[in-house]
Amino acid sequence: MLDKVLIANRGEIALRILRACKELGIKTVAVHSKADRELMHVRLADEAVCIGPASSAQSYLNIPSLISAAEVTDASAIHPGYGFLSENADFAEQVERSGFTFIGPRAETIRLMGDKVSAIEAMKKAGVPTVPGSDGPLGDDEGELLATARRIGYPVIIKAAAGGGGRGMRVVHTEAHLISAVTVTRTEAHSAFGDGTVYMEKFLEKPRHVEVQVLADGQGNAIHLYDRDCSLQRRHQKVLEEAPAPGLDPDARAKVLEACREACVEIGYRGAGTFEFLYEDGEFFFIEMNTRVQVEHPVTEMVTGVDIVREQLRIASGLPLSIRQEDVELNGHAFECRINAEDPRTFMPSPGKVTLYHPPGGLGVRMDSHLYTGYTVPPLYDSLIGKLITWGADRETSLTRMRNALDELLVEGIKTNTDLHKDLVRDGYFQQGGVNIHYLEKKLAQ
Ligand code: ADP
Repeated sequence: MLDKVLIANRGEIALRILRACKELGIKTVAVHSKADRELMHVRLADEAVCIGPASSAQSYLNIPSLISAAEVTDASAIHPGYGFLSENADFAEQVERSGFTFIGPRAETIRLMGDKVSAIEAMKKAGVPTVPGSDGPLGDDEGELLATARRIGYPVIIKAAAGGGGRGMRVVHTEAHLISAVTVTRTEAHSAFGDGTVYMEKFLEKPRHVEVQVLADGQGNAIHLYDRDCSLQRRHQKVLEEAPAPGLDPDARAKVLEACREACVEIGYRGAGTFEFLYEDGEFFFIEMNTRVQVEHPVTEMVTGVDIVREQLRIASGLPLSIRQEDVELNGHAFECRINAEDPRTFMPSPGKVTLYHPPGGLGVRMDSHLYTGYTVPPLYDSLIGKLITWGADRETSLTRMRNALDELLVEGIKTNTDLHKDLVRDGYFQQGGVNIHYLEKKLAQ
């Protein structure tokens, strides 16, 4: 087992990783910016190192500083969490070249999946269903572009190969707008991501976001941990997630789960990962793979009993997967509400001092949060302050628990989006299950 892990992240995920390390008897190093001395996991870690000023660019994204911290503390591995450097292939490479274990896939896998054109190509080859599209990057020939779009059928979406965070995409409804849309997206992609490669896909009008969690040990073993539905999104940011995804076509689902598992074996995947799909009319369409632990991983843990971060640490230690596919049993239903420090109506961030924090509790209730009374939420980072997760033997029980848990949760001194969640878990359509990715924005617009 790894001896000492440096946690290259902050907030709730840093605490989540710290807890998993402690359970496995692994020593921990917390790194933090000057604005983050008061973080809960910094207090709980065996060692703590300040890696730079408040700005993320100079601290959590500062590769030399992180590697120096690993050197001075004699850490054996680095866990990147999510966000920050978690999907940065250069970071993974430098970590390994400096003699530390990167807790995640090999750098070349991160690179393969970081470019959406190569990711889609690899997935197609592995038998994962993809969105009908241009089959590769778009060229400059206008006649060819028009022919490609005609073959796919309007509406189409032009996407940047290097895009991320919902940026670098443009929907085209008619032929008259195609060429200019390609040109503009290319220019934008070039300035935003330093790579002007774009591709074309069929634009699906009312899809759900359904994703598949996988674990692979890089030694030929891979399993899937079923699916999650993350369709409730605002500006491409997930707000509330659940596992399993309700009401999927059983055959299509079984096929896609197995295809994801096989794809992991095929590409020699190592670690935890997520295949993201759009799901429409009973069909799955791969859009991208995330090569890291995700914010919403707890809902999967609740319904499978598998500790995903623990498995990440075991895999990075060189151990084979501790579970086989036939041992993974889906049990009950889980929801996760992302609690953000923000105004529930304007969505403006609301940093500041937490004058009172009272998490909910009881059977089937889990609160992953670094908050405590007296903690000051700094204004510089992501506004996520916690994740409220509930489990129940069935969807309705789990949802009832979530309603009650949200009513118990108290965070005073700052504004949170708890009231938005209270609305959502009482929404008639959401209660039925299976709303599409536009539902939340439409509801908010009303
Ligand atoms: P990012 O890496 O920026 O998150 P994705 O490829 O995951 O990019 O797409 C982000 C979001 O854009 C999706 O969740 C979906 O809402 C929308 N989207 C992307 N591709 C399509 C498509 N072909 N049809 C409809 N919506 C799409």
